[in-house]
This record gives sequence, structure tokens and C-alpha cells, in this order.
Amino acid sequence: MDINQASEKIVEIYQKPVRMLPGVGDKTAKTLEKLEIYTIYDLINHFPRAWLDMRQMTQLNRLSFGDLAIISGSLSDIGIFVTKKRGMKVLKAEIHTDSGAISAFWFNQVYLKNSLEKTKNAIFVGKFEYNGTFGKFIANPKIYQKREILPIYPLTMGLSQYMIRKTIQIALTAIEAKDFLTQEEASELNLIALDKAFREIHGPENQESLNMAKRRLAFDEMFYVNINLTQKKKNEFQRKAIIFKPNYELIKKLIKKLPFQLTGSQKKEIYVLSKELAQDQPMQRLLQGDVGSGKTIVAALAALQVIEAGYQVVCMAPTEILARQHYETFLSLMDKKYKIALVVGSEKHDWENADIVIGTQALIQKSINFPRLGFVIIDEQHRFGINQRNMLTAKKNGLYPHYLAMSATPIPRSLAQIMYGHLELGRIDEMPEGRKKIETKLFSEIDRNKIYTFVDEIIKRGEQVFVVCPKIEPNDILSEESTGQEFLDFDRKSAIEEYEKLKNGFFKNRRIALLHGKMKNNEKNEILNDFRDKKYDILVSTAVIEVGIDIPNVSVIIIESAERFGMAQLHQFRGRVGRGGQQAYCFLNVQNTLSRNRITIMEKEHNGFKLAEFDLKYRGPGDFIGVRQSGLPDFKMAEFTNVEMLDKAKNCAKQYLKNHPKNNRLLDYYEEEFFKKNKV
Ligand code: ADP
Ligand code: MG
Repeated sequence: MDINQASEKIVEIYQKPVRMLPGVGDKTAKTLEKLEIYTIYDLINHFPRAWLDMRQMTQLNRLSFGDLAIISGSLSDIGIFVTKKRGMKVLKAEIHTDSGAISAFWFNQVYLKNSLEKTKNAIFVGKFEYNGTFGKFIANPKIYQKREILPIYPLTMGLSQYMIRKTIQIALTAIEAKDFLTQEEASELNLIALDKAFREIHGPENQESLNMAKRRLAFDEMFYVNINLTQKKKNEFQRKAIIFKPNYELIKKLIKKLPFQLTGSQKKEIYVLSKELAQDQPMQRLLQGDVGSGKTIVAALAALQVIEAGYQVVCMAPTEILARQHYETFLSLMDKKYKIALVVGSEKHDWENADIVIGTQALIQKSINFPRLGFVIIDEQHRFGINQRNMLTAKKNGLYPHYLAMSATPIPRSLAQIMYGHLELGRIDEMPEGRKKIETKLFSEIDRNKIYTFVDEIIKRGEQVFVVCPKIEPNDILSEESTGQEFLDFDRKSAIEEYEKLKNGFFKNRRIALLHGKMKNNEKNEILNDFRDKKYDILVSTAVIEVGIDIPNVSVIIIESAERFGMAQLHQFRGRVGRGGQQAYCFLNVQNTLSRNRITIMEKEHNGFKLAEFDLKYRGPGDFIGVRQSGLPDFKMAEFTNVEMLDKAKNCAKQYLKNHPKNNRLLDYYEEEFFKKNKV
């Protein structure tokens, strides 16, 4: 039997419904469906949420209240009593262990009395508690016999730990999970065989073998993701694009005209872009760089290479404000002989005859077409859907335009590799020289007046202030029925409230405006324009100001309930001030001590990528902008912070596809199942 036949056979078994297993009836099968377990493969992939290690007993004198006690011993004084107040029946016993005796109480479980009386020596597992009536005790201990590591599974109504354990063990007896790696490949990566990994994860021999099992399964998850990405990339690899030869004289001339020196990172990226535009494969690149790191000039120099050849460049930004800013920048940078057009909802220049067209989503309306399109730049690309992006980068006359995405959202490398795995990644990770660090300070209510006095002095100098709040209205997010959420939410400042408070309070002599996401577009534009024209001193807003707003005269940002934002996001806000080169300040209002500890790092750390890594470690991947839309898999075993393993999986995937060029039925199946289970 050849490998593919063997694979086909094992896939057939995997796909069998759990009902086919001996001893699994319709009722169990129905219950398992509630956990989305249908097939044998689903079943063995239902991983424990924890493991109870009963090989090491807890010493009674080491326990704190609330700890899980795992003790072994014998029982005495088994009896039942009824509580005075509530008339609850309580089963009681004394457990005698090596490290002393302790009471155990089972509440409303008197039916256990018979079996307790038969219990000689056993292991008891339950929470160590204390209360005034009972003293110290173990609450509702479960009773085990074997000194083993026991898997604890996610359950559903009608399913017990015992049942799911037994059912999974039946499945593991019935099948042998087949590996897609050869023995040599696996051992070279220091991985155990797949079949062993499944057996160990559901019934570990010891902690070390459990860790090896986790490691193997984590690797596989990352591997499937990378196989998928590599295959996608391979398809794109076959695409052809127009070759744009660089004109170094022209580039040099433009650089000489700049009122500043380019940073090393900028030069490096300009070089990379220039080279990629000269290849017959379309550029597929993401340029990440902190706010103010100077991405636009890099993109503009690349654009020059394309328009010089007589082709069009399109640059799309998520908001009208941003599109207008880019338009102004390009106008100021480019020679007057080039035609630059703006296309936004309210204003449409002649795009057909323009060299560079800059705009919003208005660019992808049906009636707009760019027959000479050579290069597409998308700013803050995570704000767009894949379809919107594809509409611009679609094939024209058999060729694809080059594509450059830009993002000021610092995303840790590991996440970026997966979220944007189909793109090459570039980074500008240094700031132009002479930029002043934005002085950052946490504050609580006691310091508020002091901060306001300081800020008022800055307003007196003619500089402006942002105040950011995490929600719009006081009762925002709260539904009519109480969910209890309001208790968590009461300290979240709302923009409308804060606006009223400042207007009628400390800053009543200052001109204050309000901006939030529920306002109409033209209303928002008007307020922003007025603020830019210095008709206001303070702008109170929600997170809407996060995306690339560039108002050089703003020197202070006050962020209320800062703990409600991720660190990467706070860093984005902070990047909104001091853009005119003046000393700028960021004040973070933090209410509780726990968040204070986390957010203090903002005072010292000014590198967005470092803050993002920190966020990933402490809050997980969910907080990064665009993560939701990117369809990031919800790994069961793998961790995004394990960059080393991610790299290994990536290399291994590349190598694997090279060594096993034929379709591998088994791997396809694993990959498919992974993406199905992780809802990507
Ligand atoms: P971002 O990366 O946020 O898009 P921009 O491209 O908008 O940054 O640049 C921010 C500001 O910094 C602009 O005013 C730009 O002219 C300026 N700038 C860009 N590169 C440099 C540099 N190397 N030195 C000094 N200023 C620069
Ligand atoms: Mg920008």
C-alpha cells in the first residue's frame, strides 16, 4: 500500500461518526454534538483544559484558603448533619493524611455516604476553605484512586468528566493517528510522533511527556497555518507585473530637495521598494512604521519610479482626512509637472488623466477605472476589507499592479507573520533625528487639578489639547436590561460627559469642541477643520482621532480611563501630539492600581513595536487593531509569543512543500480541520 492509499484510509476512519465507536450510543453522540464533536477526529482533538496531577500530594500546612488541595489518606467520623439556618444536609468526614487531619464537607450530596464508608484509602481533591461555623475544611472533595495525571475537559450539559474521558480513550484505542512528518523529520525538530502526542495529551505519563505533547500539537497548528500561507504565496508567485526601472538621478534629486535627512530605515526601505518595482513579479509588501516615522515619503519615492514610466499610482486611505493629508504631502513633494488628483466623497478631480490619484473608498466605485495602473498604495490597510483591496489590485491586461500596504499600528512580528503572511514585511523602526520624546505621565484624581493648571499654561501659549475618552455617551454600551456590566463600566469616562464637565468647570474660559463616531462625516470634518484653524483650544473625542490625524499645533493629549485601551493603542494616541516638533505631553488617567502597574511602562517606553510585544504578552492577541478582521486563528495549543517555534514552523512548511511536492491527502485533511475548528 503506498503512502497516499494509507493516508486515505486513515482519513476515512477519522471522518467516521463517533457513534461508530464501540460503547458510544446515540445519546452520547447527541451530547457530544453540543461540543461540535461529530467525528472521531473531532473527538481526539477535544483537548483537556487542564490536567490534575495526583502524583504529588499537597502538604496541609502549605495550603492557603481557596487553594486546590490534593491529599491522600483514610476516612473516619463519617456522618450527616443538618445546618440550622437553611436546613441543608451536609455529609461530613475526617481525612487523615501524612501531614495531619482535616475535615471534609459535602453539601447536598448525602448519597455519597455509602461509598465513603467503603472507601479505605483514597485521593481527595477539593478547595481548601474556611468559615466561622465549620472552621478549616475541604469543600466537596472528589475522590480518586490512582496516582495519575488526569485530564480535565471542557464539558456540556449531560456530559461528565468520566464519560468524555472514557469515550476519548475508546477512540484512541480504535485508531492510530498518522503522522505527516517522517520519524527523522520529527526528531530533527525535537518533536514526538503525532500519535504519541494525542495519547499523552489525553493521559500524560508525566509532566515532561505532557509538555512534549503540547509542544508537538502547538507546532502542528503553526505548521498548518504556514502551509496554508506558503501555498497562497506560491500562487501569487506566478503572477506577473510591469517592470519599473529605477531612475536614481531623479530619486536623488527629490531627496536633495527634502528639508531633512532621511533616516537609515527610510533609506533601506526606499531601496527595497525600488528593487521590487523593477521585478516582473508584483510587489506584495507591508510597510510598518510608527506614527511620524516618515512612511509617506518612502511611498512617494517609489511612486515616482512608476509615474516616470507613464503609469498611474493610486493611494487609498481609510478616511477623507487622511486622504487629504496625503494629497497635500504628495503635492508638496512632487514636481509640478506631475498631475495629482484627489477622489473623495465630496470632491472628485479628473482621475483619468492624473499620474497619482489619492482618495478614500470612493476610488473603488464602479465608474472609476485606472487603465494604466502600475502601483497601489493602501494606508492603514487593516481598515479595508480584502474585497476592497482586491478591487484595486486586480489584474489589468494580464498584469498585476505592485502593491504596498502601510500601517502605523505596531504589531508584534509573530502576529504580523500570521496576519499578513502573504505579504513581505518591512519596518521603519527608528524616528527622524531631533524628535522630542513625548513626556508621558500617569495621573489619578488627586493630581487632576495640577495637570489641568499645567495644561492651561500650554493653552495660554496658543497650543492645543486633545482629550480622549473610551466611550461616547454616559450610558453607552449598557443595554436596557442590567447585565452587571455597568459595575465594570462605571469608571469609563464618556466623551459627552467629559466635554460638559470641562466646558462648565476648569476650562470654562477655553474654547472646547466635541468629536465622536456617531457624528455625520461633514460635521466631523467641520469640527476638525475648525480645530486645525485654532478656533478651539481643546478637542474632546473618542478613539476616532487614532487614525493618522496630523495637527502640528497639538501639544497635549489627556487620555481618560487609559486602562480601557491596549498599550499599542495608547501609543497611537500619543503619536497624535507634538507633530510640529514642539515638546509634547501625554497624560494618562488610570483609576485602579493593577492597571497602573501595567500602564506605567508607557512613561519609559517610546518604541511602538516594543509596547506591542508587551501587549501581546500581557493581554493576548485580541487587542490589536485589525486582528479580528484578519481571521487570526484561535490556537488551542500554540502561543503567539513563541516566535522561535513560529519561525521553525514557517521554515519547515517551506521545506516540506519542496520535499513533498505531491498533494498530501493527510496534511490537507489536518489543515482543513484546523481551519474549520479555529473558525478562520
Ligand atoms: P507616518 O509614518 O506617520 O505616515 P509621515 O510620513 O506622515 O509619517 O511623516 C511625518 C512627518 O515627518 C512629516 O511631516 C514628514 O515630512 C516628516 N519626516 C519624514 N521623514 C523625516 C526625516 N527623515 N526627518 C525629519 N522629518 C521627516
Ligand atoms: Mg501616515
